[in-house]
Amino acid sequence: MTIQYNNNSLYFDDIDISKISNEIKTPYYLYSETTILKNLESYTSQLGELNSLICYSVKANSNLSILSLFAKNNTGFDIVSGGELERVIHAGGDTNKVVFSGVGKTDDEIRFALKNNILCFNVESTGELYRINKVAESMGLVAEVSLRVNPEIDPKTHPYITTGLSENKFGISHDEILQLFISAKELTSVNVCGIDYHIGSQILELKPFVDSAKKVKSLVDKLHQNGITLNHVDIGGGLGISYNNEATITRKEYVKELIDIFKDYEFKIILEPGRSLVGDAGILVTKVVEIKSNSIGKNFLVVDAGMNDLLRPPLYNAYHDILESKVINKKSVMYDVVGPICETADFLGKERQLKTDIGELIIIKDTGAYGFVLSSNYNSRPKCGEYIIKNGTVKCIRSREELTDIFGDEKEHLNTT
Ligand code: PLP
Repeated sequence: MTIQYNNNSLYFDDIDISKISNEIKTPYYLYSETTILKNLESYTSQLGELNSLICYSVKANSNLSILSLFAKNNTGFDIVSGGELERVIHAGGDTNKVVFSGVGKTDDEIRFALKNNILCFNVESTGELYRINKVAESMGLVAEVSLRVNPEIDPKTHPYITTGLSENKFGISHDEILQLFISAKELTSVNVCGIDYHIGSQILELKPFVDSAKKVKSLVDKLHQNGITLNHVDIGGGLGISYNNEATITRKEYVKELIDIFKDYEFKIILEPGRSLVGDAGILVTKVVEIKSNSIGKNFLVVDAGMNDLLRPPLYNAYHDILESKVINKKSVMYDVVGPICETADFLGKERQLKTDIGELIIIKDTGAYGFVLSSNYNSRPKCGEYIIKNGTVKCIRSREELTDIFGDEKEHLNTT
């Protein structure tokens, strides 16, 4: 992302954040279309002519404008609910390029996906395979399915975002999957078209990706020996980004290594990146409401964004860089940057050296992925607005909620006569 100081003001994609914040109520998310497209291009340029499909992982940021940007750039989508499929359809996405992951697909969601002719279901258990077969049969259709293997590889990331370990709920165990592929051939309303796996998120080392790909490759060879050929291998997502100057794997290295492993096969390679496409393309803009210190000399910077707006710090102890929107003539102070929510876990960053004051803006970096999508109305706080910079102008892509939006159809009186 391009975020830099110019004449003591912080600019994001050449937009002066302080200036636009006179018009936009804080807190709000601001995204850069240019950065998203650059991120996408850094994958597509590496994939070149390879028979491949990028299925953007909708859960990372499901705003309709972001989805429509991907749709216009011909990506497919990785979804995990009927709601996400509805979003893809609304955004003009091609349902023929949708893969449906997730351990708890309901019969209604399966029916909805079948009606919309998705590319395939990423099947997460034996029970689900039989259930999809039954639902498809009842509709007189044949469901395209890919079986998700749990490669039992440690991705060396936060435990809450590992998905390919034997103790995780995802996928089918490596030891059982061959038999399931063989049994699936007997089912009349499913067609097994692929194999998929996804080992976790925010992965910063190449080795777990390579190890899992090699394991899946040997599984594919076993499938071939058993007369099972596939149309695609879906390698999931998970490529990490640099939140705190960590070294990351470049998309070039990642794509090259994986292509090398699967290059001798005819099938299509599907990728499901989320964070690496949108993570560094977003910031959260918030305002300082209060400054306080406690009896042991700890300083708190209380801002108007809380854990209901950005859950990653309390949920995963995630680090986000925090910057001042203006360089002001103040003493630098070490703060815990906290929100207004009544939870001790309500923090955005700990022990940050900042020069700021009440009423000044504070920018939380790299919040384009798993930011707004994880927000809630906890403490009856309306969800914040979302904006995008497109061709040098700022466009609203989701208005800030009003209190009436969050009351919904809640009833004022239970015992009306
Ligand atoms: N695919 C699946 C099945 C996922 O569960 C996820 C998220 O964890 C992703 C893709 C996207 O991962 P990331 O955002 O780390 O690229």
